Amino acid sequence: MFKYLIFILFLSLQGMNSYSQDTAGIIQYAQNKVIPPGLKTNVLKALSFYPELKTTNIRFILKPNIKNSVMQAQPVFRTLLRSKKNRHYRINISTYFKLISTQMPIDSIPAEVMIGWIGHELGHILDYEQKSGSELAYFGYRYVVSPTYVKHAEMIADTLAVERGMGKYIVATKRFILDHAELPQAYKDKIARLYLSPDIILEQVKKLEEKKLLEQQLEAEKLQEKNVSEEKLF
Ligand SMILES: [Zn+2]
Repeated sequence: MFKYLIFILFLSLQGMNSYSQDTAGIIQYAQNKVIPPGLKTNVLKALSFYPELKTTNIRFILKPNIKNSVMQAQPVFRTLLRSKKNRHYRINISTYFKLISTQMPIDSIPAEVMIGWIGHELGHILDYEQKSGSELAYFGYRYVVSPTYVKHAEMIADTLAVERGMGKYIVATKRFILDHAELPQAYKDKIARLYLSPDIILEQVKKLEEKKLLEQQLEAEKLQEKNVSEEKLF
């Protein structure tokens, strides 16, 4: 019995040791970051791919509802006039992953997908870091008015993430969105072939799902009308 206890103690000490090594390795990326406790491991893992952002001020914020997206990276407006060193960013994260037919708590999506998604947002921040305050204000304006510019900015974010070795995570995020969309396989295959960021995939998937829903409703109405007219006939 005693031997058994020693053995258990030995195992748990070993476990603690490797845990603390992992934590020590990754905790260095927590500098100047505010991260909700439940997301800490995945956020720090994504940050470890971006040594350039080691001291950058980033606050990760869980939000009950973000219009039309799951995550968004933004500079904090009031810090735009400061020097780059004192600029702050935030990454808003929706508490739910939502499509038309799917809804699940964000902390229940697989780690790989979450890391990929955050990695994409960090790609946006790295892109912002290369811009001056006035360039960022102009960027914000163009992002709102030009869909072509949105696509361009999204591609840059993904490219930066892939360049830093996050390719498999970015692909996992894309696959996850497609796997949770109730769309014909042909649609999914088409989207999967294109080089698109999570935001754009999400937008396309939602549009297609809405279209499919509308088609189903129209079909149901037609069927109902047909039944009514047949009933009249007999
Ligand atoms: Zn994006």
